[in-house]
Amino acid sequence: MPAPGELTFVAPRGAKRPPRHLADLSPAERREAVAALGEKPFRAKQLSQHYFARYADHPDAWTDIPAAARGRLAGDLLPELMTVVRHASCDDGLTRKTLWRLFDGTLVESVLMRYPDRVTMCISSQAGCGMNCPFCATGQAGLDRNLSTAEIVHQIVEGMRALRDGEVPGGSGEGLDRLSNIVFMGMGEPLANYRRVMDAIRRLTDPAPDGLGLSQRGITVSTVGLVPAIHRFTDEGFKCRLAVSLHAPDDELRDTLVPVNTRWKVREVLDAAWRYSDVSGRRVSIEYALIRDINDQAWRADRLGRLLKGRRAHVNLIPLNPTPGSKWTASRPEDERAFVAGLQAHGVPVTVRDTRGQEIEGACGQLAATAR
Ligand code: SAH
Repeated sequence: MPAPGELTFVAPRGAKRPPRHLADLSPAERREAVAALGEKPFRAKQLSQHYFARYADHPDAWTDIPAAARGRLAGDLLPELMTVVRHASCDDGLTRKTLWRLFDGTLVESVLMRYPDRVTMCISSQAGCGMNCPFCATGQAGLDRNLSTAEIVHQIVEGMRALRDGEVPGGSGEGLDRLSNIVFMGMGEPLANYRRVMDAIRRLTDPAPDGLGLSQRGITVSTVGLVPAIHRFTDEGFKCRLAVSLHAPDDELRDTLVPVNTRWKVREVLDAAWRYSDVSGRRVSIEYALIRDINDQAWRADRLGRLLKGRRAHVNLIPLNPTPGSKWTASRPEDERAFVAGLQAHGVPVTVRDTRGQEIEGACGQLAATAR
């Protein structure tokens, strides 16, 4: 049964599922899977150690497991999930986009960004997206399919491995050779692939070697505002950050910018967000792409300020990144400044996102995963 708010996805007839992988399974399920192969259950812990603590998914590296058993375990629990089609870098290598090909030829992208004090990876939860926001390149191509839990997790394991192996310049030790932040802001609507995204969060945050041992506080789930799924996410009890892609304070405009608004209105989305912040104790991020002459008027800043005033919220303004075929563009600098001031007048914290990766089509809303 799909979760409330989860959009059912019917796989084309004959379509195969992604191969089962260690990262799809809970620690108990891993022990069962290993036992089903006739291996000692403790091999599950060894495999988890190799994968989640050493990022070693090739059996040659598993010297604590008898050679005869390695192939069997690898074939059953660590199949190849994805291969790199190419990397593209900018900002002197500090931003790196990876195009992945999945087992069935599906393409997805992830972006790794190194900052002076943190390393963030922006990952995909679906191939394509079904939300159809007109300013987002991913939305234009439609939904291809949900990613499996392991396909989500593996993007991050590969990011961790790349950092450890010095593939991304600027590392210095001091904790900067690990990912500190994960944002579900790549391709897809994470709350439309609810169960797999939740399982992925468990794999990311379970202590090593059961999982990667990342902090829940460093994980951001960004949503268009699937209200029932936000409530369900609240009840999971995670301390993750919730980001809500609002983009307009009024239903009339939001109906056109974020089409799912015709189902769940601004007020309902914000009420769900406030409940999340009450239960989690965390400030909610309100994402707002500034689009010239569309949603950047002073009266809209004022209206947004009134909606958010006194709430545990922070506004992240994103100058619109260009996408192919779109007539829209980023706001004028003076309109952006006035928008910031309009929010500050209500005491609402606001930052303008230092948007990364435009040159490599790796910025917010530009991920389209084409092979060319
Ligand atoms: N589906 C999720 C995650 C996707 S992207 C969501 O909508 O929240 C992360 C953010 O980038 C979202 O706020 C999205 O609306 C925004 N975005 C999409 N296209 C953009 C563009 N062309 N320029 C700037 N931001 C964009």
